[in-house]
Amino acid sequence: MSTDTPMSRRNFFTNLGRGAATVAVVGIVATACSSESEGITTSAPAPTPTTGATDLVTTTTTRAPQDAAPTTTEVPPPVDETAAVVWERANLGFVSAYVLARAGEAVIIDTGVAGSEGSIGDSLAAINLGWDDVSHVILTHRHNDHQGSLPAVIRLAANAVAYAGAADVPAIDSPRSVTPVGDGDSVFGLKIIDTPGHTPGHIAVLDPVGGLLVAGDSMNGSNGGVIGANPQFSPDMPAANASVKKLAQLTFGTVLFGHGEPIEAGASTLVVALAATL
Ligand SMILES: [Zn+2]
Repeated sequence: MSTDTPMSRRNFFTNLGRGAATVAVVGIVATACSSESEGITTSAPAPTPTTGATDLVTTTTTRAPQDAAPTTTEVPPPVDETAAVVWERANLGFVSAYVLARAGEAVIIDTGVAGSEGSIGDSLAAINLGWDDVSHVILTHRHNDHQGSLPAVIRLAANAVAYAGAADVPAIDSPRSVTPVGDGDSVFGLKIIDTPGHTPGHIAVLDPVGGLLVAGDSMNGSNGGVIGANPQFSPDMPAANASVKKLAQLTFGTVLFGHGEPIEAGASTLVVALAATL
């Protein structure tokens, strides 16, 4: 496993802005996802997937001194799922995790290898959020470089519900139950898309409003472009290629990969071109 210097690299990108990412040299896809999870416990899945609704927090205004109007109870409006999310990358070296946020509420997608929670917390802080603002944690798949910090993340994000593709849930180690999701499900207004092949339960996540796809390892970034799933670590390449063709039917400007540099414009056009070669 890489023991890169995520902090310094992350700060580099933070200081220079996202534009700097486009000039970074990558070419590290081949190191990705070298192992399955082994010897891990099975989490009992919740009976039904939840949708994006989160518990409304009721707050009570402070009573003003004397003669004030009666105390009122304010209920914050539900999260506006018609607004695009903002995103922040936790560049963990050879793998990335992402924070997607809207209206003071955040979703973490993937958690890196064990020990990545500090960098993920830095990404939250970069958009002025904290662990208490994390309502959902989504794993694109069960590989250790994506689920490694889930136990730590789920303890820090005490309010969060965890999700993964149904077929991968039994291979995920979590202190709280992991809710199985798949095609047709929505979390925080984000659409879940089954993309098997790299693992049986691999999922991608689409923000249809902002045109943002989090691809996990269904595809990889390479030299500023996009390539398919890595054959070395994808046991079912016909399914993986079919998943790319499925993603090519969607429209998105930005794609975020588990491995490789994000593409921030014209992404789905590149995926259509890739799919035509598979
Ligand atoms: Zn993987």
